[in-house]
Amino acid sequence: MTQLTLAGLSRTAPERRTVRIRAATRTDGSRPVIEITVDWVCPACGGPRGEVFATPDFDGRHPVEVDAWANPCGHLDLYADVEREALAPTGHPGG
Ligand SMILES: [Zn+2]
Repeated sequence: MTQLTLAGLSRTAPERRTVRIRAATRTDGSRPVIEITVDWVCPACGGPRGEVFATPDFDGRHPVEVDAWANPCGHLDLYADVEREALAPTGHPGG
């Protein structure tokens, strides 16, 4: 009798999501919206991040639309931290 337990498989690879965020302020003062892909887990506690929703924002000159989410664990993700997470090399501890 063979029965797969799917619930156990999703624990090995965290979900990754692509979201639009406001990039860190550049030297010219603009804050362009960029798309980044990160592991969809809270860096503070390892729990899942919240559902994404589009929200209006302002890039310093024009209204823009970015993605936001509220983590069910209550930890706040700052765009600057998420941007750094996305740009950082992964899988190389000690770097
Ligand atoms: Zn958390």
